[in-house]
Amino acid sequence: MSASTGGKSTTSRPSRRQVLLGGAALTAITTASVLGSHPTARAAGTRGAGAPLRGDVFTLGVASGEPDQHSVVLWTRLAPTPLADDGLGGLGRRAVTVQWEIAHDERFRHVVRRGHETTGPEAGYAVHAEVAGLEPGREYFYRFRCGRFLSPTGRTRTAPAPGVLGTGLMMAFASCAQYEHGYFTAYRRLAEDEPDLVLHLGDYIYEYGPGAHVSPDGVVRDHRGPETETLAQYRQRYAQYRTDPDLRAAHAVAPWLVVPDDHEVDNNWAGYVPEHPQPNFAARRANAFRAYYENMPLRRRNKPTGSRIRLYRTVAWGSLANFHMLDTRQYRDDQACGDGWKVCEDAADPTRTLTGDDQERWLLGQFRRSRARWDVLGQQVFFARKVNDEGAMSMEAWDGYQGSQDRVSRGWVAAGVRNPVVLTGDVHTHWANELKADYSDPDSPVIGTELVTSSVTSGGDGADSDPADHPDLQRNPHIKFRSTQRGYVRTRLTRHELRADFRVVDHVTRPGAPARTRASFVVADRHPGLTEVSPR
Ligand code: FE
Ligand code: CA
Repeated sequence: MSASTGGKSTTSRPSRRQVLLGGAALTAITTASVLGSHPTARAAGTRGAGAPLRGDVFTLGVASGEPDQHSVVLWTRLAPTPLADDGLGGLGRRAVTVQWEIAHDERFRHVVRRGHETTGPEAGYAVHAEVAGLEPGREYFYRFRCGRFLSPTGRTRTAPAPGVLGTGLMMAFASCAQYEHGYFTAYRRLAEDEPDLVLHLGDYIYEYGPGAHVSPDGVVRDHRGPETETLAQYRQRYAQYRTDPDLRAAHAVAPWLVVPDDHEVDNNWAGYVPEHPQPNFAARRANAFRAYYENMPLRRRNKPTGSRIRLYRTVAWGSLANFHMLDTRQYRDDQACGDGWKVCEDAADPTRTLTGDDQERWLLGQFRRSRARWDVLGQQVFFARKVNDEGAMSMEAWDGYQGSQDRVSRGWVAAGVRNPVVLTGDVHTHWANELKADYSDPDSPVIGTELVTSSVTSGGDGADSDPADHPDLQRNPHIKFRSTQRGYVRTRLTRHELRADFRVVDHVTRPGAPARTRASFVVADRHPGLTEVSPR
């Protein structure tokens, strides 16, 4: 467990940061009465078989997500015994009613909505409350109650109304948090920045059994249970990750927009092709998607049907930004030339697809419809061309699907998208890239920008290096920055520019590292490409 803690204030009135980052004490003393006064409170607690709830049911924290101008999803999952092998958190089989409330203030003096949801084993004891009737562009605080237990408080935010540019948005994004490889310090530091919105680009969990996936720096803690294949195993794995207080703090601080990558299912899977042959991969996909839905603050319309889940979607932030969240695993053709780094003719075959035809058509349509200042693609795998010293490319990334790479980037150019920005995870390294119409022509114009986040932990501590002095940058002149330290990316979007701060922590194999900004870049409105500015 991480030893890092939140609030350091010495005043007697807790700051917001104490409430969100470590202040369970405040919620305990302020309010049972508020929720308790609500008529549905009497219906609280449990029905059906099973003893009354004994331990705290809110061990996995709270989350919110998918904000639009009037609504947001509030999430929690009940688990008095989070690591129970049946994945049901020690609750067995019973129906449980949970109340929620959402307020303008963190002390819940001005509650604006209340309601309740019933959950049970078929939902993995997850609660997804889609709260409507909120005001646009506003901060809210929320919490849940179940029986005598009160959840921690979360902060969330609605999107600005359509047409509103607003004064700006602080958005942070992260990916790749192998629980065994390190402490989730980067999530803690992200929470301390108090962003308005968080994007998670996948590898939220890793599927491996203990000892099967070791970083160069070893492991600091073990996965519980074997490699995940059954629903119970995926449920248990998500619960184990959420026992980490740094991850819970990152969820509690802001609404999230999430997409999975490969490890939420199986390393490097593609469509219905698993990494290694296995008898019923469709059933494994179904288990993985069901647990993903249960554990993420997604809308009911994202609920999977068997082995399929519809996750690609656009979330608008007023007219400042459209976030097009993509799924680059479920509909892809299998990796060309046997996967890995290859010099591979098939990678250029225009009939191959990374997104699938339906998602591609949808995305190109979203480009044509967009009037946003920034069109941001929240997705998983490396978009820019990247060749190694043998001239090989990654068959897992967009380079392995050059038809898709071409059609999507030409699509945003043809649609006149004002400021296209691709956000990427997966590769456990920070990168800042200029996207080109033709990477083989040095005079080809820059047509977009890509920001790639390093991992939260995956790969271990990493090492600091001169970010401009690496053969990858010499070979690929459109790539402007690289860092192999762990971290996340903090962005600030305004009508004039997007600023990106590449945040790093010096170590993850011990808790408590401070974060610093390794490099900062600005993308100016209508000027794709990167200008390095002094870090902050
Ligand atoms: Fe990863
Ligand atoms: Ca990945």
